[in-house]
Amino acid sequence: MTARRIDLHTHSTASDGTTTPGALVRQARAAGLDVVALTDHDTTDGHAAAAGALPVGLSLVRGAEISCRGGGVSLHLLAYLFDAENRALANALDGLRESRVGRAERMVRMLERDGIGVSWEQVRALAGGVVGRPHVAQALVAAGKVASVSEAFTPDWIGTHGRYWAPKLELDVVETISLVRAAGGVTVFAHPAATARGRTVDDDVIALMAQAGLAGLEVDHVDHTEAARRHLRGLAAELGLFTTGGSDFHGDNKSVQLGDHMTTEQAYAVLIERATGAEVLAA
Ligand code: AMP
Ligand code: ZN
Ligand code: FE
Ligand code: FE
Repeated sequence: MTARRIDLHTHSTASDGTTTPGALVRQARAAGLDVVALTDHDTTDGHAAAAGALPVGLSLVRGAEISCRGGGVSLHLLAYLFDAENRALANALDGLRESRVGRAERMVRMLERDGIGVSWEQVRALAGGVVGRPHVAQALVAAGKVASVSEAFTPDWIGTHGRYWAPKLELDVVETISLVRAAGGVTVFAHPAATARGRTVDDDVIALMAQAGLAGLEVDHVDHTEAARRHLRGLAAELGLFTTGGSDFHGDNKSVQLGDHMTTEQAYAVLIERATGAEVLAA
């Protein structure tokens, strides 16, 4: 049997991707994937639609990418196969989404004050689900202020600590790892070395996360250099973590494509074995 093609990091219109959950699973199969994880920011809202549209031959891993903070740094925690009905975890995600709305409104208000032609109604309409900076970026593209969504992520615009940036709520990463585990899920530290997004955490923070029950590190990611990947693989081996890969597909909001980075069969097997909160779905 040839190795399955496994992509464990994607976003849909339930957060800041541009592809609906249903179209995403169809596109994933068309791209030759055998397993795809839907990991929208701070929500599980896309799961039902993705499950309902699942093509034959594709397995769906239900997950989320949770906004966290560790060692004084913003970071993303991928969570897989947790019980989405778990009250404590669902409440935590509710709080994150609520904070995102007020935060996006604040950014739009700052832009409006400076006469940049964007409005809250427009950003609200661009966000079909969880609102994020890419929706504000889309409004900036529509206003002709930047040429692409990516170009809005600079200090002059809505890049982290940039002129029109506002902070959002982030959960303590160690607490969140425990919360996801208590809901039967498995956690993976998303793009730990994505330096373009701001400060990254030191290895001792990753060690603390491992102690708290972190299961894996996302090593193969578009924002990682070869050197960073080598370092992370060594660290994972030291800490007893598995390593994953994922495209971090966002539809038209980013240039990456489904399957651009993938996870090995061995790492996937460990993930499945540890999860008790939800089943992998197949048509
Ligand atoms: P937020 O979670 O609302 O703070 O927005 C951050 C999200 O914007 C990230 O999770 C990425 O999906 C996206 N993002 C960050 N940097 C870029 C970039 N340079 N180009 C496109 N999307 C980006
Ligand atoms: Zn995103
Ligand atoms: Fe992320
Ligand atoms: Fe992501």
